[in-house]
Amino acid sequence: MKETIEKEITRGGEFVVKETQSENIFTPEDFSDEQKMMRDAVKEFADREIWSKKEEFEKKNFQLTLDVMKKAGELGFLGVGVPEEYGGLGMSFTSTMLVCDYISGSSGSTSTAFGAHTGIGTMPILLYGNEEQKNKYVPKLASGEHFGAYCLTEPGAGSDANSGKTKAVLSKDKSHYLISGQKIWISNAGFADILTVFAKIEDDKNLTAFIVPIDNLVGNEGDGFKIAMNALNIGRIKLAAAALDAERRIINSSINYSKERVQFNTKISEFGAIREKVATMATDIYVGESATYRAAKDIEDRIKILEDSGKNHQEAELKGVEEYVIECSMLKVAISEDLQNIADQGIQIFGGMGYSKETPMESAWRDARIARIYEGTNEINRLVAIGMLIKKGMKGHVDLISKAESVADELTGIPSFEIPDLSGVFKEEKIILKNLKKIFLMLCGAGMKKFGLDIEKEQEVLMSISDIMIKIYLSESAILRTEKNCNRYGEENQKGQIAMTQLYLYQSVELISNKAKELIISLSNSEEQKFLLMGLKRFTKYFNYPKPLELKRKIAKMVIDNNSYCF
Ligand SMILES: Cc1cc2nc3c(=O)[nH]c(=O)nc-3n(C[C@H](O)[C@H](O)[C@H](O)COP(=O)(O)OP(=O)(O)OC[C@H]3O[C@@H](n4cnc5c(N)ncnc54)[C@H](O)[C@@H]3O)c2cc1C
Repeated sequence: MKETIEKEITRGGEFVVKETQSENIFTPEDFSDEQKMMRDAVKEFADREIWSKKEEFEKKNFQLTLDVMKKAGELGFLGVGVPEEYGGLGMSFTSTMLVCDYISGSSGSTSTAFGAHTGIGTMPILLYGNEEQKNKYVPKLASGEHFGAYCLTEPGAGSDANSGKTKAVLSKDKSHYLISGQKIWISNAGFADILTVFAKIEDDKNLTAFIVPIDNLVGNEGDGFKIAMNALNIGRIKLAAAALDAERRIINSSINYSKERVQFNTKISEFGAIREKVATMATDIYVGESATYRAAKDIEDRIKILEDSGKNHQEAELKGVEEYVIECSMLKVAISEDLQNIADQGIQIFGGMGYSKETPMESAWRDARIARIYEGTNEINRLVAIGMLIKKGMKGHVDLISKAESVADELTGIPSFEIPDLSGVFKEEKIILKNLKKIFLMLCGAGMKKFGLDIEKEQEVLMSISDIMIKIYLSESAILRTEKNCNRYGEENQKGQIAMTQLYLYQSVELISNKAKELIISLSNSEEQKFLLMGLKRFTKYFNYPKPLELKRKIAKMVIDNNSYCF
């Protein structure tokens, strides 16, 4: 029997103007028994085959990566999201994210090989290939008999991928294309059997995708840029998932070390300076998980709705992911940067040993660093996220305009001095969240008023607005996850989670406040400035401040007493 989706689904980017109910989001606590079994199997595999051989991986033992990929294929991990008719397990989008999360944390080498193969190496063929191409290539990619690579970047065409110069020329007898050009930085190129190569046919303006070595055109002529970008959207959200277990492993190693290392006759885990780092690391992991799995399930539900409306799986998956381009880009930015910070804190906890190759921190930092560059740099992804939202606003797909007008009206009105009912978990936090969205709308309105459509040239402005949007999405995801779990397990059970959510929101308010102030004082004249700064003050107001140090102490105690990240 077909399962129907009854909950209300927030469309891509709509969270900035809409309130989401906690019962309508997916949280990591909602995984089914089957998914938990899959997670445990993947984790056991990663511990046994990758983590325990980390030193060997670090010696660039290339064969080891290949062996692990083969074994992952034998266990079905390479084809989790591939439909059964093409040799995969046909599991849901969230299941593919779960596998990606737990297989990727132990080594940067396998993480990249796995991500490139299952994401950008397989998806263009699965999503855009014709039946013959899918039958021919996908089962071998899903089983690990063949490996895939995605060849877009060229020496002269990185972020500006559509400017690539690789050419495809049709042979005189029209039997094949001759592709010539240069590609660079292609993950898995050293061992891949099937390459998706992006090239321009003759003098076309746009790229076309080919399966190489046997020249095959994927999709239609000129569709290559669209194919490349859509494959990247999936890659971006998977990259966010891939960073999560790396973060858990870093915090766990750091806690273990801090409990063994003694200085001043004291275990360093007892120093507040160390405990504060552990608390912040745990908070970022918890919030990242909340946002990643929320978005993953939104995508999965959208795919299902599209399938129910008659689209085939291929079209439905394409459109489903496309709908959440904004979320995919935001997650890629936020979690790759969290991973970097967490790895950096990990090094600090290990002290001099953290700087040495003898401990896993040095490689964790190095591995984390690439996540901010590939799958579109974080600058490009910040611009994509806000640019796409503005486009959706102009088209009326997200009601930015009238909501921004309402905020402007509210600013000219007399503020209420009534103290709202703040009893109950997250009453105050939810008011603040609503107000943060108003700040976002206020800045979008002010930016559009000043620059009009030329705002797309104002990158510093867009970057800051994008950062504000990212903090709102992550804070909201944590609030909704914790609220949902408080409702089912009770507040007592969620003490640590409540503390992390409050801490993250408090820190987000501070960051948003600074970024917004910088924009307001840089962009507005003195009259507007007064008015917007008053709005900013009103919208960042806490009735009762949380006590950040107390929250950090509570979180650190839970994680350190438990010897590992325990949420
Ligand atoms: C280890 C590794 C693996 C990779 N794997 C693959 C792969 O499998 N397949 C593949 O096709 N590619 C791959 N890449 C390439 C990767 O996607 C590119 O490196 C990335 O897109 C950036 O391009 P670039 O290096 O040319 O930097 P550039 O585009 O030259 O960027 C340099 C700087 O300028 C900034 N910048 C550029 N344009 C803008 C703009 N419009 N606005 C604001 N800032 C801008 C960037 O954000 C960056 O900070 C990989 C790269 C590495 C290092």
